[in-house]
Amino acid sequence: MIGAGFAGLAAALRLAQAGAQVTVLDALERPGGKAALGYEDFSSGPTVVTMPQIFRALHERLDLPAPELEAARPTTTYHAHAARPGEGRTFAPEALHVAGSLEPTLSQLSKTEGQRYSSLLAASRRMYLDAAPTFLFAPPPTSARLARYALTRGLRAAPGTSLARYVRSGAFMTPFWLRFATYLGADPYRAPAVLHNIAWVELGYGVWHLQGGLLALAGRLHQKALELDVRFEYGTRVRHLMVHGGRVLGAHTDRGAFAADAWVSAADRALTLGWLGVGEKPTPRGVSGFALQLHLKEDRGRAHHIFWPAQYAREWQDIRAGHLPRDPTLYLHLDGQRAFLLVNAPPKPELEDAPRAYGLLLLKLLQDRLPPELQPLEIEDWLPLGPAEYARVSQGGALYGRAPHGLGGSLRPGWTVPQIRNLAQVGGTVHPGGGVPLSMLSGWNGAGQLLGLRYDALGGLDVPEVGETWA
Ligand SMILES: Cc1cc2nc3c(=O)[nH]c(=O)nc-3n(C[C@H](O)[C@H](O)[C@H](O)COP(=O)(O)OP(=O)(O)OC[C@H]3O[C@@H](n4cnc5c(N)ncnc54)[C@H](O)[C@@H]3O)c2cc1C
Repeated sequence: MIGAGFAGLAAALRLAQAGAQVTVLDALERPGGKAALGYEDFSSGPTVVTMPQIFRALHERLDLPAPELEAARPTTTYHAHAARPGEGRTFAPEALHVAGSLEPTLSQLSKTEGQRYSSLLAASRRMYLDAAPTFLFAPPPTSARLARYALTRGLRAAPGTSLARYVRSGAFMTPFWLRFATYLGADPYRAPAVLHNIAWVELGYGVWHLQGGLLALAGRLHQKALELDVRFEYGTRVRHLMVHGGRVLGAHTDRGAFAADAWVSAADRALTLGWLGVGEKPTPRGVSGFALQLHLKEDRGRAHHIFWPAQYAREWQDIRAGHLPRDPTLYLHLDGQRAFLLVNAPPKPELEDAPRAYGLLLLKLLQDRLPPELQPLEIEDWLPLGPAEYARVSQGGALYGRAPHGLGGSLRPGWTVPQIRNLAQVGGTVHPGGGVPLSMLSGWNGAGQLLGLRYDALGGLDVPEVGETWA
């Protein structure tokens, strides 16, 4: 196996549980992939999760104690930019299945805004329910399944319409809807309307905090894998895969060669193709990130905040032009004395030569936008992580692989690599997509397929009906 991120850990566990002898190679010094850069005591990437059912099912399959998941209430607090003091606006939606009704969310909106919110929420639910059985909780779709989806449910997903056109809701609410596309690495202005289904995952089923954070989850999965005799070779960077007769025989790494009967790559698909020497038509990369890990002087509780810039569209013009945005949307996650500040960035590792200077700009923007109840946010120390740092674990720092632009672009590649019979490709850059729960689902099943194990949706479709709440 190559890669000890969440997908790689899930894959190693499935294979080891089925009796395979597994060795995992990873370039980093510890498990967690995108969560494992920077400071050792907290995640450098994922902070909150969706789809709690996947975490519960995975823990159950592995005989681990149930994960401690707590619903984030509100899901997130959105702060609109205030040109003058007192002019700002805040919106803190509750997830429908967690709150039990739409009332607490609608009470914060005008009547017209509320009507638009309800209709867009219903549309995202319909798109999600239509797409999930084919694109999320099933093996990569065959051409026949794709055609069946396209001719029936696909027609209801506004094919041919861009997301930006589809969610138009005025200056305050449009960016709210657009930003869900970034969860798959899209530029929201180039994303197809069907990515609107992502909104339902968060606004319908909720956002969840995992006790101890995501890096601790990687630690628990790693420990379980050790108990199943999985061997981990950290600090081992793969350079090349040796292929003969349509099979991978071994890997050249900077710590020597490794041989195996079968292979799983849980690193980016583009990296795997590079190691195999398979040239594919280059596709545009999805977005990268620039983040700050912050140790705070005081415990500020648990919360998720988003601060809009004065002009959301300009942020994306900067990113498209290959610049770090001058006035970006700020994503702030607070967890006790730790905070994580994230902005979208172009997938260009070569671009920042002074990450601390850009980090200081972000801290200044943050302090200017913090509402009174969060001030002052006193910082003990901090560490910047730019696209160059994320390029250590991904192709060019693109957090979710290729950009899901245009209708076909939103389809994720499957788990096989052309003409290689003993290699499975899993992880956030392939089916069913990015984010921790889907990456784990990919690892669990992509690796399982290599051994002929049955597909296991990890309880993905087991969600409450509208009106019911999660336990
Ligand atoms: C800033 C940020 C915020 C995010 N926020 C969230 C969030 O809140 N919620 C959420 O669900 N998701 C979030 N994500 C996305 C989520 O982190 C990823 O989708 C998920 O971690 C991907 O896991 P993976 O195992 O597929 O890939 P990775 O974590 O990238 O693992 C790939 C592994 O392969 C290894 N590798 C690469 N090249 C080599 C090589 N040559 N040799 C050996 N090993 C190699 C890497 O070291 C790495 O360990 C966020 C990501 C980032 C970066």
